[in-house]
Amino acid sequence: MEKIVLLGVSGSIGLQSIDVIKKFKNKFDLIGVSLSSNIDVLDRILLEFPNLKQVGIATEAKAEAFKLKHSDIQVFSGVNCSLDVIKNSDCDGVINALVGFAGLLPSLVSLQLKKRLMLANKESLVIGGRLIEKALKDNKGIIYPIDSEHSALAKCVRSLKREEIDSLLITASGGSLRDLPLKEVENASLEKVLHHPSWKMGKRITVDSATMINKAFEVIEASYIFNYPLEKIKVVINDESLFHAGAITKDGSLVLEAGVNDMRIPISYALNNFKREDIGIPFSLDSLLNLHFRKFDHNRYPLFSLALEAFKKGDGSICFFNAVDETLISYFVNKTISFKTYLSLMKELMSLSQFENCTSYAELLEIDKKAREISKAKVQALLQEV
Ligand code: MG
Repeated sequence: MEKIVLLGVSGSIGLQSIDVIKKFKNKFDLIGVSLSSNIDVLDRILLEFPNLKQVGIATEAKAEAFKLKHSDIQVFSGVNCSLDVIKNSDCDGVINALVGFAGLLPSLVSLQLKKRLMLANKESLVIGGRLIEKALKDNKGIIYPIDSEHSALAKCVRSLKREEIDSLLITASGGSLRDLPLKEVENASLEKVLHHPSWKMGKRITVDSATMINKAFEVIEASYIFNYPLEKIKVVINDESLFHAGAITKDGSLVLEAGVNDMRIPISYALNNFKREDIGIPFSLDSLLNLHFRKFDHNRYPLFSLALEAFKKGDGSICFFNAVDETLISYFVNKTISFKTYLSLMKELMSLSQFENCTSYAELLEIDKKAREISKAKVQALLQEV
């Protein structure tokens, strides 16, 4: 039995991971989880997994409430609760489904402790790519990606020889604003932005899909995971999100990986050590009818290039970018600022970024903090003007 810890259990990927682990209960046991505050999801999970004895709950008051009801479980609280679960449990593998910068340190520590890392957290590689690369090398680890594109890329790349591949391709859905006339994009409402055409995901990633920041992050991740330079990773839009990724080979061919747009497929592929298992999701040939592909339009998605430029400037710069994005999106989704303001503040604040390469997690943490403060102050100032 492989003992699994699942970080970010109450989110979309977290709950779908629970579904997948349940299907393979003969091979995997869930022994630890962490979440932010939604402790209600735990009742059902605890019934399913009696060996779940370590729980991290970031919100102190929720952790206290949970502790009163479950004296047989070791409960950790506070910002480092995910780390505490990894360090104190005797797990073999870690599914990191945390959202945002907070996922980086748990990824690093998992690798340092030689745990098998199944990675859904984007920022681990986007911001901490160099640190993760070193941890992988030092500990002879590999990453099992949990993202439809990178999972599909792993399937493609593993079926080909490296010298046969010219470049990699990842697809994008185009996001919720893909069909809006270009001049209406910046005035899109919150409801419109959050209405993704083909995936049901968390709010931040849905907004990042509308702007394609998410896709820029995925290009960066693919570059680290598969060791290709950024310019060797192309993006094309597939409206139906049926094709996830591919490899353009040197003999003028394209090997594409298609699959139902259900995150349980990449979760299962990572969990099952790159093995395609039956998880009861059949592929319908009808899905091949009426497929649509579009060229990537840089005018529609200016933040895509902004994200890649930030990355090229250095880890500090992409760290700053991510924190500004995370903070501004939180204001956008609670209706404090409009989409137009979000877009213009991203550009304005990024022009202030002067951060270059960082060599440590502590430096990144400092930049992350500073970027959040700057973003908050900027929004507060704007609100006062009105
Ligand atoms: Mg993706």
